[in-house]
Amino acid sequence: MEGTLLRRYGGFYYVESEGRVWTCRLRGRFRLQETVFLPGDRVEIKPVGPGEGVIEDLKPRRTCLKRPAVANVEQVIIVFALREPPPDLELLDRLLFLSGVEDIEAVIVWNKADISKQEYAGLPELYRQIGYRNLITSAHTGQGIDELKALLAGRLSTFAGPSGVGKSSLLNAIQPGLNLRTGEVSSKGGRGRHTTRQAELIRLPDGGWVADTPGFSRLDLPAITREEVAAYFPEMEPLRGRCRYASCLHRKEPGCAVVAAVEAGLIIKHRYEHYLTFLAEVIAGERSFS
Ligand code: GDP
Ligand code: ZN
Repeated sequence: MEGTLLRRYGGFYYVESEGRVWTCRLRGRFRLQETVFLPGDRVEIKPVGPGEGVIEDLKPRRTCLKRPAVANVEQVIIVFALREPPPDLELLDRLLFLSGVEDIEAVIVWNKADISKQEYAGLPELYRQIGYRNLITSAHTGQGIDELKALLAGRLSTFAGPSGVGKSSLLNAIQPGLNLRTGEVSSKGGRGRHTTRQAELIRLPDGGWVADTPGFSRLDLPAITREEVAAYFPEMEPLRGRCRYASCLHRKEPGCAVVAAVEAGLIIKHRYEHYLTFLAEVIAGERSFS
């Protein structure tokens, strides 16, 4: 029987399969290999008693997040508020970028629509035009909650976003009692504030799972090369190969199609600036790894 690992506790592994949760132990060979099983892992189990099983096999992972450590996350629900706290667009672009690198679909949820500030009202449309999915919600009035439910149903998702934007409130609006742990995206500085606590999956009422710890850290540096950074900015994709130099990093090179698009207003300025920020970080990371 195939199932999804929800959580580990002591030597026990709680696996959801065919609509129920099985308390499992590892087969001996896994204990010897010390294979690390993560919440979200697809496993093969063999029932050995009522509600009890043995994990026989680990299926290949499609994705694997480090913080929180969860396997097979299908989508990241990136939550920002349309007011209080004001949206930090560098953090938003960073989360979109990291989701792209991890090959996990991103959906932007703009919460607190009930107190939305005019100043930020255009943001969802701006990001929609780039190609991202957007949802406008209010955990207080219930706006967009059915759409969010539909989005989460039957899939493995993780929330991301700064604290105070309403991630816990949204989950609570879906089903009271489903609370996210704090362990938020770290603020700037201070490397190594990672939580040692293991993540668990929360089962949603309409099927599907949500990791109980919000995903991604501001400090996660993606393991990609400088040439790859632009590939995770969808608005730059159509310009691929249009620059004068094939090796163009779209900084100050002559004949750069990306810079021309920014000047023509076809690429949003803050998105381009964040591209430069992430590019510089990736380049600095290359040096420290070599
Ligand atoms: P989290 O840190 O992202 O999990 O945010 P919380 O869910 O703890 O919410 C932070 C604060 O924002 C709380 O005081 C909530 O009551 C408030 N809040 C959450 N969602 C909304 C919303 O849709 N509208 C308004 N006006 N306030 C909200
Ligand atoms: Zn260029």
